[in-house]
Amino acid sequence: MLGRHLESEEESKRIEPHIFVTHYHWDHIQGIPFFSPLYAEQNRLHFYSFRSEYLGRDSLKRVFEAQMAHPYFPVDISAMSARRDFTELAGGDQFEVPGARVKASWLHHPQGCLGFRFDTPAGSIVYATDNEPGDPKLDQSLRQLAAGADIFINDAQFTPEHLATTRKGWGHSSWLEGVKIAAEVGVKNLVLFHHDPDSTDKAVDSILRDARGKFANVWAAAEGMLMTLGGANLDVLIPAVREGLRRDTHFRAMVTGFTDTGMAFEEETVIRDLSLHGALIYLDHSPRLQSELQVQLD
Ligand SMILES: [Zn+2]
Ligand SMILES: [Zn+2]
Repeated sequence: MLGRHLESEEESKRIEPHIFVTHYHWDHIQGIPFFSPLYAEQNRLHFYSFRSEYLGRDSLKRVFEAQMAHPYFPVDISAMSARRDFTELAGGDQFEVPGARVKASWLHHPQGCLGFRFDTPAGSIVYATDNEPGDPKLDQSLRQLAAGADIFINDAQFTPEHLATTRKGWGHSSWLEGVKIAAEVGVKNLVLFHHDPDSTDKAVDSILRDARGKFANVWAAAEGMLMTLGGANLDVLIPAVREGLRRDTHFRAMVTGFTDTGMAFEEETVIRDLSLHGALIYLDHSPRLQSELQVQLD
């Protein structure tokens, strides 16, 4: 999406973005080989990351090469004809890129992770993915990074209950931590990010509801969401797929079909989640896979 967006811009003849890579876990790097501006020789890309103790010198460059090795990818690194510059950062680094002053800070995460703050004429944005509370020094530096930010994007993978028990030590945070930090250091808008892959949209909705009960300006990140700084109020655009299609319902339904042992059944149930893609129906019977069900709504 970002590649296509950059290529569709007015002055897209030659694209020269600055790209900040927080760390090398799969969920943060797997889009790189599919980023189309890398395959046009007039483009120049500036990458920022850190030297990993596992990868050594030119860590991000090594990641590129490893990702594009056979048999994981059809072409090798020589197909990436754009010019790539790599800068290795450490926590505490501050520097300028066109349009923003940047600050990097270490976050508490296995094998390390950098958080970034961008101060721009329109406002400030802090991107703090993948961090677990509990390391006093790093908890403090996250607060310094986020202080007074217009937008604070923070890890909210786990519920506070999970974070305190079964997911302790997994390297992630919760909405409650984000809310605490936001209130403590005067953040204006908190964006909950890095949702758990097992969290359904409904689970994210309930996390958002809990968070809004404690802090007014909280948002749940969604793919394609757009926040625009610089006006009197923050302008937020949430994609229609997230908001428009799914409905909480309470329809009584009668379902008839055949079980996997071939027995005909009839069961009454309630449809609680309906979208243009379909309805979620819970049954006590176990219908035969790929068989047809009749659903009769009241
Ligand atoms: Zn990670
Ligand atoms: Zn992650």
